[in-house]
Amino acid sequence: MLRTPNKRFLGVKAGVINCDLGMSKLFDIELERLTGQPSYSGAVRGAAAGQGGTFFLETFGCQMNDHDSEKVAGVLLSRGYRQVETPDAASLILYNTCSIREKAAQKVFSRLGEYREKQSEGKIIGVLGCVAQQEGEDIFKRAPWVSLVCGSASYSKLPEMISQLEAGNQRVTGLDTDTDETFETEVTRRDNPWRAYLTIIEGCDKACSYCVVPYTRGPERSRASDSILREVRQLAELGYSEVQLLGQTVNSYADPTARKMRFSELLLAVADVQGIRRVRFTTSHPSDFTPDIVEAIERQPKICDHVHLPVQSGSTRVLRTMQRTYSREEYLEKIAMMRGANRPIAITTDIIVGFPGETESDFEETISLLEEVRYTGLFAFKYSPRPNTPSLSMNDAIPEEEKGRRLAVVQEKQREIQAAGNAEMAGQTFEVLVSGKSRREYQWSGYTTSHRMISFASQERELLGTYVQVRVTGAGPNSLVGEHAV
Ligand code: SF4
Repeated sequence: MLRTPNKRFLGVKAGVINCDLGMSKLFDIELERLTGQPSYSGAVRGAAAGQGGTFFLETFGCQMNDHDSEKVAGVLLSRGYRQVETPDAASLILYNTCSIREKAAQKVFSRLGEYREKQSEGKIIGVLGCVAQQEGEDIFKRAPWVSLVCGSASYSKLPEMISQLEAGNQRVTGLDTDTDETFETEVTRRDNPWRAYLTIIEGCDKACSYCVVPYTRGPERSRASDSILREVRQLAELGYSEVQLLGQTVNSYADPTARKMRFSELLLAVADVQGIRRVRFTTSHPSDFTPDIVEAIERQPKICDHVHLPVQSGSTRVLRTMQRTYSREEYLEKIAMMRGANRPIAITTDIIVGFPGETESDFEETISLLEEVRYTGLFAFKYSPRPNTPSLSMNDAIPEEEKGRRLAVVQEKQREIQAAGNAEMAGQTFEVLVSGKSRREYQWSGYTTSHRMISFASQERELLGTYVQVRVTGAGPNSLVGEHAV
């Protein structure tokens, strides 16, 4: 599973991973809602420990990083910290980083450079996430003003590390990947009041030759099914109606409890929780995508009719060098399984162009795969070699201009496919969870169960967080517009 940018790309913000900046968001949900308790005091341990401290947290990267940041914010809030909107207002500045692409990692160092002066003002600066894991203590050499370096596999030790910083330690690290723990917190500060992310599996045991994730996030660790279901019930009680289960390879979930729930059983159990109306999951690995998952989608309409199934290349030869563990034909069997379901399933994917050794004919196989599958959205990238990955030693001989050309061809092909697919939706009515309100009066936006975003008009005064029926009145390659169907 390759992580994809958190920007609307070819009409779908589905992706798994994102490289845009997620600026620090203010605490936007009242504490009672987070803790489920009438008063915050006593709800969490050590609330006084960081009394008076303020933090700024900026997130680069994927939905898993977004959700890790929600949990990091929860840890800090539970220690009495207050979240602020700017680094200037903060005593603790944290960057949760992404290293999936070279550019994303460079962005982190340039951002750190901007805050060089802040340490002399007494601020503590910390680097979390994949760049922290990848660069380790070298970050202290490149940016000596940094005090905390913690990879995502060590987040469970974060409270301890923050205690050390509070006690005056200048250099604190958490870089172990040898762990069987998942990062669970007593309080998670969620950014979205209707849809909750929930990580059910962390790390990755696959070994795709281009990917840093097994190195930066460590081996696969699944969260206990009873703990997941307990949190889903709490979320429903707090008013969340959509739950998105997260994992680098979410469908490789292996319940560590005696119950040994399969991933498909977990999907059904989450959907059964009273108050939950939608269950999403991201990202699925093709090799572990089994018929029972499609059967669960068929059986339970609350399980969303959208699957993100990264293919990366349409050429079996390239898939082999990528160590993707499936062939083009095997991947297409998974697609056929979904196409045979009793309700339509929207399928999105990730593509890498210009992988070492990709010939023109390999590339044409990717284009023919797009024509065959007709994805509702995709994230496409030019290959860039990453540290600590097997593909680093492969000859990256395809010139940048050629990679750029192939990327443009993929994007243009997908644009055509989406324009045709979206045009077919005109006149149809879909249920939308309203999550956006335009500055223009009576203009709203939201997502269908198949994760298509629709902008629509409604004369209602307040719709945020509600489910409404929307009739599609117009469609372009990257957008759908509609009107509230009352
Ligand atoms: S190694 Fe794991 S996280 Fe990386 S692309 Fe492969 S399946 Fe995804």
